[in-house]
Amino acid sequence: DVQLSDRVQSIKPSPTLAVTNRAAELRAAGNDIIGLGAGEPDFDTPQHIKDAAIEAINKGLTKYTAVDGTPSLKKAIIAKFERDNGLKYEPNQILVSSGGKQSFFNLSLALLNPGDEVIIPAPYWVSYPDMVLVAEGKPVILETSAEKRFKITADQLEAAITPRTKLFVINSPPNPSGMAYTLDELKALGEVLKKHPQIMVATDDMYEHILWDQNFCNILNATPELYERTFVLNGVSKAYSMTGWRIGYAAGPAKVIGAMKKIQSQSTSNPASISQYAAEAALNGPQECISEMLVSFKQRHDFVVEKLNAIDGVNCLAGDGTFYAFADFSGAIKAYGSANDVEFAEAMLEKAGVALVPGSAFGTTGCMRISFATSNANLEDSMARLAKELS
Ligand code: PLP
Repeated sequence: DVQLSDRVQSIKPSPTLAVTNRAAELRAAGNDIIGLGAGEPDFDTPQHIKDAAIEAINKGLTKYTAVDGTPSLKKAIIAKFERDNGLKYEPNQILVSSGGKQSFFNLSLALLNPGDEVIIPAPYWVSYPDMVLVAEGKPVILETSAEKRFKITADQLEAAITPRTKLFVINSPPNPSGMAYTLDELKALGEVLKKHPQIMVATDDMYEHILWDQNFCNILNATPELYERTFVLNGVSKAYSMTGWRIGYAAGPAKVIGAMKKIQSQSTSNPASISQYAAEAALNGPQECISEMLVSFKQRHDFVVEKLNAIDGVNCLAGDGTFYAFADFSGAIKAYGSANDVEFAEAMLEKAGVALVPGSAFGTTGCMRISFATSNANLEDSMARLAKELS
């Protein structure tokens, strides 16, 4: 019997992908399942982006590129940071990877030694703790609550810091809660970090463009003094409906970005050349496609929040952005007789044919994440099914 590594045994498969796969299995077996588990826009990739990829193929731009991305894509990324975020970078501060997922993975491997602590607010994107564990770091999870709009306070951050703290991860607007930090809240966190110069910061801005009312800002905009130790992680997956193209990028101090590039050079090398040309067209091209998607996401958000709140035992706060609702189902879970949110999610899948992701996957029990990146018809049908099953 093969003995697997301690490393792989320390982690679990992505729970969101697991829900999506289970829903697909049930569907393949002939069941009528509505998937609200997947974290990807249901829109097609805009045509001008696809055209750029087709052109790249026809021009024969189908070979290895520089490990860290083509010079022209890096230029587009640098221009994007300046245009949208008021941040300035040089090419050696940018690394293009196969999705935002690989950016954080590279960062964890480049930065962490065994036992280094990484502060991660919950509910968190499912992959942060497990990627930290693969790198033999120690995730330090900060709990939040619906009352605090699922956001941590400066005091909480301060209290979690130890001499072993190496990295603080912040994702806003976040998957799964959708509650964005305000500039003042980010400033307060920044003040704490200013006192601890050994701590690096990762801001995951993947949902930057999916925000309803406020202007986007990240912790570097709030506290520019953190520039020398902050990594900005972003990508084209969510903004341009390009999840399958696998392009993410990271910006930050050249030394660590160089180390991340070294890791990438010994694992996947450059991200797919064709996808890089497509990403370049996405960043340099017309941005209207983003606002069109945003209008739909906001309408769907309002619909889902209203329908969820109409169910007994469910409380759903209105979010600030993303395409997720993160609702407190604890009353409904109890009334339904489920032992916990995982059992409840399984019951909803089997009995109501609706795939939701249990909050414990994100480190916050008693809640459910509902992805509303699906058609209005699916949302109407799934909300009616849940209301009926839980009445
Ligand atoms: N960061 C957050 C917060 C996410 O929700 C996701 C995707 O679900 C990613 C990063 C990674 O995106 P990708 O690897 O698809 O580019």
